[in-house]
Amino acid sequence: MILETFPVGPLACNCTILGDEQAHEALVIDPGDEVSRIQRRLTELGLTLKQILITHAHIDHVGGALKLKRLTGAPIFMNESDLPLLEMMGIQAAWLGTAPPETAPPDEALRDGQKVGLAAYPAEVIHTPGHTQGSICLHFVPLNLLIAGDTLFAGSIGRTDLPGGNFNQIIDSIHSRLLVLPETTRVLPGHGPQTTIGEEREANPFLQKSGGRA
Ligand SMILES: [Zn+2]
Repeated sequence: MILETFPVGPLACNCTILGDEQAHEALVIDPGDEVSRIQRRLTELGLTLKQILITHAHIDHVGGALKLKRLTGAPIFMNESDLPLLEMMGIQAAWLGTAPPETAPPDEALRDGQKVGLAAYPAEVIHTPGHTQGSICLHFVPLNLLIAGDTLFAGSIGRTDLPGGNFNQIIDSIHSRLLVLPETTRVLPGHGPQTTIGEEREANPFLQKSGGRA
């Protein structure tokens, strides 16, 4: 298995390449920026890109998706509740003071419970609205791995002050859908260091019974 996560773009979005070196196939999750670097790495590893998976439609996560699709022919998967955010790309770019990337509607939806991923490394889609309405996490059950997007971070949670954000909803999503996973589940968040479900259940200040919710 090839699993490489590296920060891309000015907001350091964690982009992940998951590859099967036997089948020479790969997934890319959240190609927010630095698409030529991502493509170069796929070429170096000898991998054909099969799916581009988007955890949510913030510019730092989805910004390079269409460019990567044009270079590789791989389809883009995204939850349709984030289509309004995709249509606001000009406004999102203005938040960052950058030029808006070209975008297009996804080729495939990502729905709760859907199976995506590679034959060797399947993932289940968990819809976790709150950071955005279309935020999803990818649970690679056999790998004991969760790609969490901007829903859950090491010691923090996603911001909910942007359009489509809802604080009570993200707290509910995390408690009902993520903290119920095995505590040894490795979590790769959309920004910053990795963590585990157990660590966050134990110590994340936003997720404790008392405090943190103000
Ligand atoms: Zn985000």
